[in-house]
Amino acid sequence: MILRKQFLEHVGQTSPSPMMIEVERAEGTFFYTPEGKRYFDLVAGVSVSNVGHANPDVIRAVQEQAADYMHVMVYGEMVERPQVEYARLIAELLPGQLDCVYFVNSGAEAVEVALKLAKRYTGRTELISMRRAYHGSTHGAMSMMGTPEGEEWKAEFRPLLPDVKSIRFNSFDDLNDITERTAGVLCEVIQGEAGVRLPDPAWLRALRARCTEVGALLIFDEIQTGMGRTGAMFASTKYDITPDVVCLAKAFGGGMPLGGVAANRQILNSFTHNPCLGHITTFGGHPVCCAAGLAALKYLIDNNIVENVEHKGAIFEERLSKHPRILEIRRSGLLLALELGKAEYLYRLMEIFKEEGIMSDWFLYCDTAFRISPPLTITEAEIEECCTIIERSLDRL
Ligand code: PLP
Repeated sequence: MILRKQFLEHVGQTSPSPMMIEVERAEGTFFYTPEGKRYFDLVAGVSVSNVGHANPDVIRAVQEQAADYMHVMVYGEMVERPQVEYARLIAELLPGQLDCVYFVNSGAEAVEVALKLAKRYTGRTELISMRRAYHGSTHGAMSMMGTPEGEEWKAEFRPLLPDVKSIRFNSFDDLNDITERTAGVLCEVIQGEAGVRLPDPAWLRALRARCTEVGALLIFDEIQTGMGRTGAMFASTKYDITPDVVCLAKAFGGGMPLGGVAANRQILNSFTHNPCLGHITTFGGHPVCCAAGLAALKYLIDNNIVENVEHKGAIFEERLSKHPRILEIRRSGLLLALELGKAEYLYRLMEIFKEEGIMSDWFLYCDTAFRISPPLTITEAEIEECCTIIERSLDRL
C-alpha cells in the first residue's frame, strides 16, 4: 500500500486513473502482484515481451554484457560487438537492400530519425502519414499522428511540424497526394492503435509503386508489428513489400529500451556529411540493450517461435469469435482486436478482467475493442485457459 501511495505522490502520471496493479515479478505469460495474484499478460508491454517475461537467454545476455562493458562513448564511434552482431543479423533477415541499422533508444526516436533521413536524403520537406496512425509521442512523431483522428491527442501541443499531411490507409485515390514534393511516406504495415486494421495487399503494392514513381522514401513503421508479432519476422515480408526504411523498437530490445532504423548504407550515410552528426544520440544502441535484443531474436529463431504464431492466434480467434458479445475479430498473427461495439462494454470488461486476472487494454483510436497481444511464447494450454477466463468475463458483461 505504501508503494502505491508513493507511486501517486512521486511518479509522473499519464492519466487520472492509472491501473495501479503492483508488479512483484513476471515470468513467461504471467506477472504477479505482491499478494500473489496472477495476471495473464495479454498486452506484453504493448508488443514488447515477445519472448516471454524473464526469458533466461535474455537475462544471461544482459548479465554478461553488463559485466563486460556498459556505456563507453556516444553512439556511433566505437566498434561494439553486440551492435555489430545484431545489425548483421537484422540485415540478413530483411530484404537485401536494407543492409544497415542505425540504433536509437525508442520507437519515437526511430521515427524521428526516419523523418529526418527522408528530408535529408531527398532534399524535400513534405511528410505524409496515414489517418489514425500512431508513431510516438515526441513532437515529430506526434506530428505524424493521422489527422483528424489524432487531433484529440495533439491539438494542445501545436504548433507541430509544418508540411505534414494525412492520407487514408487503404485508399487508392489518396495515393495521388504523394507527389514530387514528398520526402517520405510513413506507414504502419498493420495499423495497431487504430484497432488492428489490415492493409489491402494491392494498396500496399500501389503505395510502394507510387513512392518509387515520385522519388519519395517509403518508411514502414514496424515498431509494433516487427519481431514475429504477425506470424512473420516482419509484417512487410508477409506482404512481400520492401520499403526504403524500416523503423523498429518495442520487442526489438528483447525487453530493454532499444530502437532501430534499417535502410541501405547509401541512405543512412546521409547523416555522415553536410552536416556530419546528422542525428546523434548518447545511449542509442546501448550494448546491454543490443545484447538483449540479439538474444531475444536468436531465441525466436532457434525455437521456431514465429512459425507457430499464426496457429496460436487462430486458436484465440476460433474460440472467442463464437461468443455473442464479440462482434468482430481483426487479427494478424498474435495481434488481435476483439470488437464489442460499445465503449461502455469495454470499460466494464476492463474492470472484470482486472478481477479475473487478465491484463488487456484498449486502442488509442478505438475504445470499443480490446487487445490480445501476449508473449509469442504463450502455450496452447495457456491460450485455452485464458479463453475460458475471457469467456467467463464476457458472460458477466
Ligand atoms: N509506432 C508504433 C506503431 C507504436 O505502436 C508505437 C508505440 O506504441 C510507437 C511507434 C512509439 O514507440 P515508443 O513508445 O517506443 O516511442
